Amino acid sequence: MTKSGKLLASARLMEQNESLFRCPVCHGEIKIDDGKSLLCTNAHRFDLAKQGYVNMLTTPSKTKYDKRMFDGRKMMNEAAFFEPMLARLSEIIGRSLKPAEDKRIFLLDAGSGEGSHLMTLREMVSRQIQMDVLGVGIDISKEGVLMAAKNDSSNLWCVADLAKCPFADKSFNVILNILSPSNYSEFDRLLADDGVLIKVIPDSEYLKELRSVFYEQDDRREYSNEQTIQLFDRSFELLDQERIRYSVPLNPVELEHLVYMTPLSWSAAEEQVQQVLDHNLHEITCDFTILVGRKKNK
Ligand SMILES: [Zn+2]
Repeated sequence: MTKSGKLLASARLMEQNESLFRCPVCHGEIKIDDGKSLLCTNAHRFDLAKQGYVNMLTTPSKTKYDKRMFDGRKMMNEAAFFEPMLARLSEIIGRSLKPAEDKRIFLLDAGSGEGSHLMTLREMVSRQIQMDVLGVGIDISKEGVLMAAKNDSSNLWCVADLAKCPFADKSFNVILNILSPSNYSEFDRLLADDGVLIKVIPDSEYLKELRSVFYEQDDRREYSNEQTIQLFDRSFELLDQERIRYSVPLNPVELEHLVYMTPLSWSAAEEQVQQVLDHNLHEITCDFTILVGRKKNK
């Protein structure tokens, strides 16, 4: 699709779903103006980018997420590294939604990065539940959202601050939060009363092969997600908690992408990264905990 085609397609999708949006500055309603920008009742304006996303940050942000990391994550998605976890999420979503509802399902990915998790999941879920699913991805990183929008026009993509989500109250049936920070008060505001929040966090053996090289003599080798689970449980009613663990075979090229995708390598020296690549690993362990919750106060 050409850039102007992308702009048109996402403007149309936004127009069909105008009522989802809320101005992040004044909380006013938003309309699509002339197919080119989102305009609130108090004249705050957010232009659509040519690639088909909208930047709704109220203050510019500097994030440490870089293109190499997002390229890595996209490649790992293509290598089916996350597929068993995403397939499980799709089942959980299908089970959580009430059958025979003749309406569109709104799925927010809070911290969507370069978008590949949401793209994969929206397809899996629509196939599974045979309902119309609209995916909305937000991330504070413009670099990530730009990559997402370039690759996909069937979901809505926004650069936004999780603390000031540009959406109306109770807009989403499902909020996904995959390996990404949370903002529970915003999740509570955005989730429909009968909606579910699904958060994925690493468990202790996640990437243990990399961890043992990067953190050779360091207590960060051991990872516990206990505090994260407690915080979730204080904010939402924890309905279900499950662990999913599997190994993925990797070739050297995939291993390199994996290394650059992971926060473990951000603070590592180049020689440590090289050391990992020289280690001749053939398999990497994935180990996640999936938390499913609903609102405490409805
Ligand atoms: Zn406004």
